[in-house]
Amino acid sequence: MKMESMMVPKTDATMMRCVCNACASYTDCMQGGVMGVFCSTGSAGDCAMMEIEECMCSDCMNEKEFSLDGKMYCKIGPAEMKKMSN
Ligand code: SF4
Ligand code: SF4
Repeated sequence: MKMESMMVPKTDATMMRCVCNACASYTDCMQGGVMGVFCSTGSAGDCAMMEIEECMCSDCMNEKEFSLDGKMYCKIGPAEMKKMSN
């Protein structure tokens, strides 16, 4: 198995696709900072809930386009690496 770098860009297109603001774990604090695309930008720090209630990343077109295999990026940080089997 090898690891391949897989950064997700934060662009107008990825912001449009991001469904974080429809997620129960998206807090007022995040809304105030107009945060999103956490798979690109990393965790939301103190704005993130202590316990994540749900994650909608699996419903996001960015998840499919960039072949992400994680979730809860607002809590755990950005998606940077994709595991590739060969
Ligand atoms: S990263 Fe997941 S848990 Fe966090 S706000 Fe976005 S959809 Fe919700
Ligand atoms: S995969 Fe999750 S954090 Fe990344 S853009 Fe989609 S909803 Fe937002």
